[in-house]
Amino acid sequence: MTYYCARCANQCGIRPAPPSTDFLATQYQREKHQKHTIPASSHRIQSIFDNQSPDYYRDTMLEAYKRGAIEVTSRVKDVLFCPSTQSSIGYKQSYGLHIDRQDTVRVVKSDDWLRVQSFLNASSDHSRHRCDCCSGPLFAST
Ligand SMILES: [Zn+2]
Repeated sequence: MTYYCARCANQCGIRPAPPSTDFLATQYQREKHQKHTIPASSHRIQSIFDNQSPDYYRDTMLEAYKRGAIEVTSRVKDVLFCPSTQSSIGYKQSYGLHIDRQDTVRVVKSDDWLRVQSFLNASSDHSRHRCDCCSGPLFAST
């Protein structure tokens, strides 16, 4: 995997373009949004946004496309956006049992406009990752 911090992602021109379609354009995307806003005990791993509104989902993804770090895996680019390491925006659970608070949005399938979706990670999941361009941390410490 190759990582780019937000600044190097801009300078290297590898930032994916945000969709011009709605983030909830397809049934597939609406089901993913539901999975990540409505708690259920049936998922082995489920991350849940505190804010359930589609507007919030869209806004955080647009911010991610603009300001996030990029993880490149073969031909796929995931966008990692941590608005602030000081404030979580949701949580992760396993079969309904709370695991941890989460502060980072991960946008997956970022170049497939009808499948792009996001869920939550913890910035601490990436604390060992360094930008392959400048060797700095992925997220500016805020
Ligand atoms: Zn960098």
